[in-house]
Amino acid sequence: MRGDVPKRVRVGVNGYGTIGKRVADAVAKQPDMELIGVAKTRPNFEAERAIAKGYPLYVTGGGDRSAFERAGLPLAGTIEQLLAEVDVIVDASPDKVGRENAARYRSAGVRAVFQGGEKSDVADASFTAMANYRVGQGKRSLRVVSCNTTGLARAASVIDRAWGVERWDATIVRRGADPAETNKGPINGILPTLQMPSHHGPDVRTVLEGLPITTLAVVVPTTLMHVHVNRVRLRHPPADAAEVIHRLRTSPRFRVFRSWEHVDGTPQVMEFGRDRGLGFNDVMENVLWEAGIGLDGPELHFFQGIHQESVVVPENIDAIRSMFSLAADAAESMRVTDEALGLVPPAARPTSMK
Ligand code: NAD
Repeated sequence: MRGDVPKRVRVGVNGYGTIGKRVADAVAKQPDMELIGVAKTRPNFEAERAIAKGYPLYVTGGGDRSAFERAGLPLAGTIEQLLAEVDVIVDASPDKVGRENAARYRSAGVRAVFQGGEKSDVADASFTAMANYRVGQGKRSLRVVSCNTTGLARAASVIDRAWGVERWDATIVRRGADPAETNKGPINGILPTLQMPSHHGPDVRTVLEGLPITTLAVVVPTTLMHVHVNRVRLRHPPADAAEVIHRLRTSPRFRVFRSWEHVDGTPQVMEFGRDRGLGFNDVMENVLWEAGIGLDGPELHFFQGIHQESVVVPENIDAIRSMFSLAADAAESMRVTDEALGLVPPAARPTSMK
């Protein structure tokens, strides 16, 4: 085990797909972290991009070294060699594979951040920055909860603290696949998730203990985003919906679109992401619509969109900062992360954009 807490935490990323390549770029932008390398199982266009960006590339998951050599992609070594160089590894391998990798991280004496495709007991604790930032202190491993759970946990953190949640019912309209996934569906049809309630509610409680939330889910043929349909009974409701809109709009990692912005749904949110031009054209915030937030007595209704490919990226960064005590609190960690990623904090936005 390494003793001293380093000044710049040395980070490796094992699994360089949808999440891994985004987390690698995010780590490389942080002032208190250093990206030591990324690990891939086989050569492809993403491996070529890693080389082009100057990220040392390591072979992992039983991959064939010679395949990289034949493709002309120079390897810096094996996953074991990467683990010898880092303080923490972010595991972004496919669902359930992180659990197989966990023993290797433990024996190498490196801390680890896992993703939401793993069961919660893969790590010492589950994590969402706004919900339970401090849980990482002294931990050897954390699991950043899934995209849907992250979105729900962020919203619940703000709403429960402000007005108290008596009961939360959410229907999760899930994207069928990520844009590059050609082996998943449905391509037509709506699939109810026949596990009731869905796993998302219990998963939110891994970061917000006791939250009275129940979730149902349907899968639909889209690749862009998830959308949550929320009905929340509040203990101490605010006077009007404007107060809710203001609270969410002034919270980090929320984007509340106004009617004049003409963002009708997820296609325009993605177009907004392309226009804004953060890496991968991502939208890492919870996305809400001003006209899609309503208050009826104690009942709060709202829609929120979640860009599944990117919403957990800042949370991975905060998870590292939490484990290594690099920030005083969640607010400071999120501020550093978001500034580095180009997410403009609410207080710094022009009035018309707030
Ligand atoms: P992905 O399939 O896009 O990428 C996974 C990468 O890991 C691939 O490059 C694959 O070749 C590589 N890999 C395969 N076996 C490996 C091994 N043994 N060791 C290391 N790498 C290996 O998957 P993803 O979408 O990036 O998902 C990664 C994790 O993030 C999963 O736990 C998933 O549930 C979670 N997650 C995904 C999303 C999403 O919408 N894509 C959102 C939030 C969380």
